[in-house]
Amino acid sequence: MTPEVYANRISDRQNIDPNAVGDLSDLKVPGNQSHDLPAVAFHLLESWYRDFIHTAIIKFQARENKLEKVLAAVRTGPSQTEIREFPIPDIPEDSALMKMEVAGICGTDVKFYKEPPTKSPVIMGHENIGIVERAGREFTRRKGFKEGDLVFVEHYVMCGKCEWCHLGEYRHCENTDWRHNPEAIRYGYTSAEKAPHLWGGFAQYVYLPWNAVVHHVPKGITPELAGLVTPMANGVEWSLFDGGVGYNSTVLIQGPGQQGLSQTVISKQAGASLIIITGTSKDRARLEVAKALGADYVIDVQKEDPLARVKEITGGRGVDIVLDCTAGAGTMPILFGVDALKRRGGTIVVQGEMPDFPNFPIGKVTVKGITMKSARGHSFRACELALEQIASKRFPLEKITTHRFGLKDVDLAIKSVGGYGVPDVIHASLLPWK
Ligand SMILES: [Zn+2]
Ligand SMILES: [Zn+2]
Repeated sequence: MTPEVYANRISDRQNIDPNAVGDLSDLKVPGNQSHDLPAVAFHLLESWYRDFIHTAIIKFQARENKLEKVLAAVRTGPSQTEIREFPIPDIPEDSALMKMEVAGICGTDVKFYKEPPTKSPVIMGHENIGIVERAGREFTRRKGFKEGDLVFVEHYVMCGKCEWCHLGEYRHCENTDWRHNPEAIRYGYTSAEKAPHLWGGFAQYVYLPWNAVVHHVPKGITPELAGLVTPMANGVEWSLFDGGVGYNSTVLIQGPGQQGLSQTVISKQAGASLIIITGTSKDRARLEVAKALGADYVIDVQKEDPLARVKEITGGRGVDIVLDCTAGAGTMPILFGVDALKRRGGTIVVQGEMPDFPNFPIGKVTVKGITMKSARGHSFRACELALEQIASKRFPLEKITTHRFGLKDVDLAIKSVGGYGVPDVIHASLLPWK
């Protein structure tokens, strides 16, 4: 097939399929336009050689910056980290390479650092913000992300085929369910032995296959603030979508960590008329931040009887919704939450993972008509709303991003988030190039 080209029309030139043209004499050039052929030829050359030249430039730059190797902090055992080197992977046309900017650290990291769910070496880091460094042509065409874009990557790597994926609920897809599927891929969880190795954010680069779930970070958000998107997305998912927080809701949030504080922001934005947040005496600084972010009352559960205080604040009614954002507090948050809910029809969102619950108050749950939901990550839509919330600059979120750590300090960073390292950490940003 010989294309017909008006060589002086830029749009025509750009629409030539270079694969359909053997040499320039194949082109049908109507009229007296052969003097424009050099422009056509240049366009074809560019198309033919763009990928080749681009790959060469990236490889050259990598050599210049001595980036044949990627440095990563690898969890090698319980509470053990080693800095290891990995090769820069080849990037197929449908994949990309992300240069890490910020990896957020959360309570899940604390839990799985102390008690790893696998014996394999793992590059942790599942709340990842970075810049697309190299994007295959198909990756850009299909997914809409190009080199230089600042992005947030969900830790769920989808199958793209199942019903959950079509709903944007990648967290439920079997392809990312590491508990039941040994082949599952999830950033921060998948073994670093699985090629091309870069499956975690505590590294200079992260590999993005075709099925990575990627979001644009809106303009004007720093990578560090964007690092809050995961707790904020959980805030949207748990308080709005699961808990049903809305206009005039009364809400009890247990735990003033980054997660509880994010729930505070989202509940406030959604129109809650009362937000009560609980913590312990060591959470004093966090409780102050909670007030700045919109909490109406804070309760130190070590100094006051929290149930009596909730009853007092609500005039004996109790609250509409309880959100459990505690870590390692056992059955207490659920027992307290059930009692703190209103007489009938309240909702409690739980995230306990203890194997059993002796004397679970099923009678109270039934009689009060309580709905109990499980907090399990976030959907695509929750991430998009969270990014918009951050971009709105409506709340002083920089009060949450308190600390930064470099790659060599991953151990200290995780321990600090867990409350036994640097004091008063709320949200820690891991900067892999620091
Ligand atoms: Zn997390
Ligand atoms: Zn799926």
